[in-house]
Parts: sequence; C-alpha cells; structure tokens
Amino acid sequence: MSKTLFDKVWDSHVVHKIKDGPDVLFIDRHMVHEVTSPVAFLGLKNRGIKVLFPEKTFATADHNTPTVNQHLPVKDPLSANQLKALEENSNEHGISYWGLGHEKNGIVHVVGPEYGITQPGATIVCGDSHTSTHGAFGAIAFGIGTSEVEMVLSTQCIMQPKPKKMRININGNLNKGVTPKDVALFIISKLTTSGATGYFVEYSGSVFSNMSMEGRMTVCNLSIEMGARGGMIAPDEKTFEYIKGREFTPKNNDWTNAMKYWSTLKTDDDAIFDKEINFDGNEINPMITFGTNPGMGIGISKEIPNADSQDGGLQTFKKSLSYMDFNEGESMIGKNIDFVFLGSCTNGRIEDFREFTKIVKGKKKAPNVTAWLVPGSHKVEKAIEEEGLLKILNESGFELREPGCSACLAMNDDKVPAGKYAVSTSNRNFEGRQGPGSRTLLASPLVAAAAAITGKITDPRTLY
Ligand code: SF4
Repeated sequence: MSKTLFDKVWDSHVVHKIKDGPDVLFIDRHMVHEVTSPVAFLGLKNRGIKVLFPEKTFATADHNTPTVNQHLPVKDPLSANQLKALEENSNEHGISYWGLGHEKNGIVHVVGPEYGITQPGATIVCGDSHTSTHGAFGAIAFGIGTSEVEMVLSTQCIMQPKPKKMRININGNLNKGVTPKDVALFIISKLTTSGATGYFVEYSGSVFSNMSMEGRMTVCNLSIEMGARGGMIAPDEKTFEYIKGREFTPKNNDWTNAMKYWSTLKTDDDAIFDKEINFDGNEINPMITFGTNPGMGIGISKEIPNADSQDGGLQTFKKSLSYMDFNEGESMIGKNIDFVFLGSCTNGRIEDFREFTKIVKGKKKAPNVTAWLVPGSHKVEKAIEEEGLLKILNESGFELREPGCSACLAMNDDKVPAGKYAVSTSNRNFEGRQGPGSRTLLASPLVAAAAAITGKITDPRTLY
C-alpha cells in the first residue's frame, strides 16, 4: 500500500498498538534541557528508575542561560538551580551534558543537527514545542510535556495518537528578499494558528527542495505555530551532504546501510493525504507580524488589515491591536522600533547571521536601537568569527552575545521592557513573550537587519 513519508517513519517505530487508543512509539533521540527535565528526573528518582537509554539522550543548557559572562556563576537562583539539577541528573544517569562553557553548548534544536544527532527517519522528542525543527531532515520530531519526558527517560517510548496528514506544496521562485522565515510566516498567515491542528505536515515542492538545510529547519521549526504536531521534509542529497561526517552520524558500512534506508524515505506517488494545500512561491513577500500571534502577519509593505477581514474573534483581534498600540489600515513601514533580536532556534544559525550581515555591512546601527545578536550555539559563534562576520558587525556597531535562547522567551536576563517594540527573528509574539508588556514583531533576519540600521520597520529590499 502506498505510504506518505510520515507513515513510513511512524509505522516503523510503533512497538505496540493500543486498541482504539494511541500507538506506543519507540523514540530514537531524546533531547533534554534544564526547564522541562528536573521534575521528570525527580519522578524517576522517586520510583527508583534509571534512564533506559542514556546513549540516546542528550542534554544541553539553553533556556535559562545568560548570554553575557557565561564564565561567571549564574545570578538568578531559579536558573542556577535548574542548571545544577540538569548537570547532576545527567551525571547520575550517564547522559551527555553540554552545559555552560562546553564547546558544544547551544540551543537544543541548533546543536542536535550540528552534531548529527538529528537524522532522517528518526523519531526525536524534547520537552520544547519547537522540536519540530528536526523534521527538516525527514525525522518525526515533536515537543512533549514534562510527564512525557519522564515516560521517555524511563522507557524510551511514548504513547501518541497518530495525527492526520497534511501536505503543503509550494512551487515557483521566491522573490528577492524572501527567506525561509517569510515562507513560514506566509503559510501561518494563510492557515492561521489553528489551521494545522491535529495534523503532521509534509512540506513539498521546488521552494523547499531548493531551500538550504538551515532554511528547512526554520520552516519546520514554525510548523507548531499553525497548530501542527510537527512538520517534515523528505531527505535528499542536500540532507545527506549536510549530515555526512558529523560526530553522531553513522560511519563506513553503517553509513552505506543508513543511506539505503534513508533513500526510501519519500512519499509514494499515489499516497493520500488527509489535506493538501498549494501556494505559489511568487505570492510571498518579506513578512512581518503586527499582532500577538504568529498568524497575524502581512507582507511588509501592506497595511494592517481590518478586523472584519479576519477569521476568529473580533474582540481578540482588537485586543491584539490595542496591546501593540497599532490601528487597522496603518502601514507597518516606518513604525519606530526599540529592540532587534537576531537568534533563537528559528533563526540563530550561521546563514541567518550571513543574511543579517549582508544588510548591515558598511552601515551603522541606529542609535535608538538595542540589538541582541545571539548565536544559536558555540559552533555558530565560532563560524561568525571565522567567516569575518564579527568584524563587519562590530564595525557597524553591533556586538555578539554568547549562545542561548535569550530573548526568545522571558526566562533569562534578556527581557524586552514593557511597551517597547522588538523586531525579533524568534517564533512567538504572544503578550509578554519577550518580557512583561513587551511588543514583538516577528520577522526574518533581513527585516531585522533593516530595522536595526534604520530604527524603523523598513523593507530590506530597499537596502541592497
Ligand atoms: S529558542 Fe525559544 S523556542 Fe527555541 S528552544 Fe529556546 S525557548 Fe524554545
């Protein structure tokens, strides 16, 4: 019987089918960080259970970590305790722990692919919603809750109802200045934040096959923001080239055997999806959000829509605009901003820094803007320096911080103050996401760079 890519990976990991209930899935890789793991490890301790497969479990510190002076003790007591707990739990259970100062430290969804932990056809979970990132490699990857973290630590399995399948096809060429982030924000703006609820999405078409692996990670990362359980892209030569030779990828005969399997990981021609959606790549322009959910996005040169034209509640729409202090029909171009955040598991990779630098090169940061440039990992940080990007950024008045989740969420010191506007390359713009009262405008690294230079929302296509 014909199968989708999703079916192939899912079905090969089912260890037990519960009648009229969820499947029990084997999990190949479990990524762990300091926020959702302490209670799970405590549960194991209380029950006298050890982690079943420590070699399939990887821990890194990212959410609560400061992004300056990482060599000093962490000041915030809650963060310091969580980091200490992760280190102790990892040591006790024999898990690889990449803590602060470790050369492999970084955001969990950045370091997984960097070291080849993320592989095609794998099942990958983590106690973080944006685990969907790893789907870029043709893996089934999704976020789980704390009790599920405990379940996976103790059994290497998880109970999950099988989601429905959706395919989003985008063909054609992307316009100048349109990045993978814009593609994702465009899709979410069309589908809304609940448009893919209950589905696992496969992205297909020339726009995705032409996209770099890092771009595919950005797109899959944001799948969760339209309600999907996850997103994935069939592995191809680009995927295999990206992962070859990385620390945790198979070597020699194991590589040859893995490649034989990975080459089968594509949707069969006549496989059926529960839902298919088509867009044309030419329709997409650089995007920016104007409201308080990632679906409230528009092409950067467009006006904020009227409430009447929006799906969902009128009250919610009006409340959202009120929080942002924006009005229907206003242009986004020219609005003053206060902060720029380049980073997160959505856009904290080397290609994102290359894009940002492309715009700011030879120009100066606007004096009214505070810019936080935060690499997703030490590997990215090193590449920024080695490629000469750091010198260009410094000459333009930017400084680089140390790796971590930073201003993606208000869980460390990098908080945007109340009432301030931040153009952010992260993934969520809910009220207070970047700090109590903060106002977030989600955008690509190019749009963020243009805002950082001009101090206002600016179409990046006018700057290069
Ligand atoms: S960068 Fe943001 S979304 Fe990504 S892992 Fe960190 S907190 Fe989660």
